[in-house]
Amino acid sequence: MLKMEKKCQQCQAKTDEVDLAFICSFECTFCSTCSDHHDFICPNCSGELLQRPRRTRTPLDVSLDRVKKKLFGK
Ligand SMILES: [Zn+2]
Ligand SMILES: [Zn+2]
Repeated sequence: MLKMEKKCQQCQAKTDEVDLAFICSFECTFCSTCSDHHDFICPNCSGELLQRPRRTRTPLDVSLDRVKKKLFGK
């Protein structure tokens, strides 16, 4: 599961699970302002910064749903 960093690595702005944030493949996390500033290239590893998918549910909710689907086949 993707680790959801709660802070921009550069400016410490809040990047909570529901906030807009950008990550590279090494999971360096930046806010949209800093990502834009770096032309969406990670300053740490020179990889592409892509928009992080937002997480709107807790991992527990999702695993419960998965179990239910397995048991009831829906
Ligand atoms: Zn930032
Ligand atoms: Zn990186």
